[in-house]
Amino acid sequence: MIAVSVYYNAGTLLSVFELANMIVDTHAHLTDKNLTELQPFLTQAREAGVGRIIAIATTLEDSRQCLELVARHDELRAAVGIHPNNCCQAKESDWEEIVGLCREEGVVALGETGLDKYWDDCPWEIQVDYFKRHLRLSRETSLPVVVHTRECAEETLGILMEEAGLGPVNGVMHSFTGPQAVADGCLELGMYISFAGMVTFKNAKEIQEIAAQIPEDRILVETDSPYLTPAPHRGKRPNHPALVAYTLEFLAELRGVSKSVLAEQTTANAFRLFGNW
Ligand SMILES: [Zn+2]
Repeated sequence: MIAVSVYYNAGTLLSVFELANMIVDTHAHLTDKNLTELQPFLTQAREAGVGRIIAIATTLEDSRQCLELVARHDELRAAVGIHPNNCCQAKESDWEEIVGLCREEGVVALGETGLDKYWDDCPWEIQVDYFKRHLRLSRETSLPVVVHTRECAEETLGILMEEAGLGPVNGVMHSFTGPQAVADGCLELGMYISFAGMVTFKNAKEIQEIAAQIPEDRILVETDSPYLTPAPHRGKRPNHPALVAYTLEFLAELRGVSKSVLAEQTTANAFRLFGNW
């Protein structure tokens, strides 16, 4: 017997064939001013096989704008939340509004959240507080969290492990840059690991070694548009969802599989984590 995975949702049915011909950009800042003229970028994405995109938010206002985009474009879904570098400007009522917004149609994740020691925009305690708020809301709603970490991967894993004592940690380490021990810890918690353009850079040997070994049912791809444009377009701005195809191609070669196999795996993973649409 041949096992054929199909994904049903709202009347749509996607076969393995369709999955293999579709890439999901799981992390794009589509409200960024560099992507103001969005439609041409969405058209290019579709032409490149990028059939679904998650618009990711950094503030309350951004969360609202992501939802407006979702209402206008069928291929989009939104993540709502407050970024660690923005959380100290958030008012208490902003968080309450995020809690309300995350129940709206079209929201598939919370974030981005996490911790950042590279930029000292927000005091550490406030970042930790907001990170834990997102994790608690994730447990309450079953929405996955999209986790950012910069120069504090061990501390981030520490909090995820602490919170795992309170309930399931469901989510993704986005634009993952290592180290291996943190990837291992996150995988053990049941999380997914997502790679952005950085993995394609020449000097990214450590990230490449990690990416080569991520189990096929836990790997995701993203652009993190408009930043971190993948090779061979490194340095060009803006990065945009169509270019995730380069990251996918690079990863496929690294992992010794065809592009269509990796597209099928990463798209199935994205739909398992975020629900399909
Ligand atoms: Zn981001």
